[in-house]
Amino acid sequence: MNILYLLLSVLLSITPPEEKPSFTQMEINHIRVATPELFANTKLLELHLEQIPDTAYCFPLPGGKVISPYGRGGGRHSGIDIKTCAKDTIRSAFDGVVRMSKPYSAYGNVIVVRHSSGLETIYSHNFKNLVQSGDIVKAGQPIALTGRTGRASTEHLHFETRINGQHFNPNLIFDFKERTLRKECIQCTKNGKGVIVKPATKKTAGTT
Ligand SMILES: [Zn+2]
Repeated sequence: MNILYLLLSVLLSITPPEEKPSFTQMEINHIRVATPELFANTKLLELHLEQIPDTAYCFPLPGGKVISPYGRGGGRHSGIDIKTCAKDTIRSAFDGVVRMSKPYSAYGNVIVVRHSSGLETIYSHNFKNLVQSGDIVKAGQPIALTGRTGRASTEHLHFETRINGQHFNPNLIFDFKERTLRKECIQCTKNGKGVIVKPATKKTAGTT
């Protein structure tokens, strides 16, 4: 037993260190967290959704219907509620890294995925989280099962999109009727402590 233990510890010590991304305690434990360095060199960040191939995005709850829009209750609703049935599979919208996966007050079991563009997607009220902080996920990968943990009156997915910790209307990213990605450029402009998020003004045909 002791020899096995010794052998194991020797083996572990010679394997290269894991390349799992690590996050600060703040990033692991809280939803609204500014992304380090995101606006360090620029005030304008562009999310080029039109450059994302079909294989690199997924509607977070396939077949789901919107039961409550973003901004409901005088702007208090920080996400969009999508429903199918209990314990249905929630999928990561894009490739990314799980920053947070834990119960968090009214959110219940929640997952925050950070994507390379700086965008973060949030999946909440989950019956069960299937991934941990530091896990690398692919678009479409199952990450949780729908539930009603936290403050929820029915089993559903509360889905949020955030940039630098600030939530914005997920309708800018997805067409929730068609359940498709909006293939356009989204501009995120740092404005004091906040961020203004809007679609880039469309170029007229013919201009480059
Ligand atoms: Zn909600």
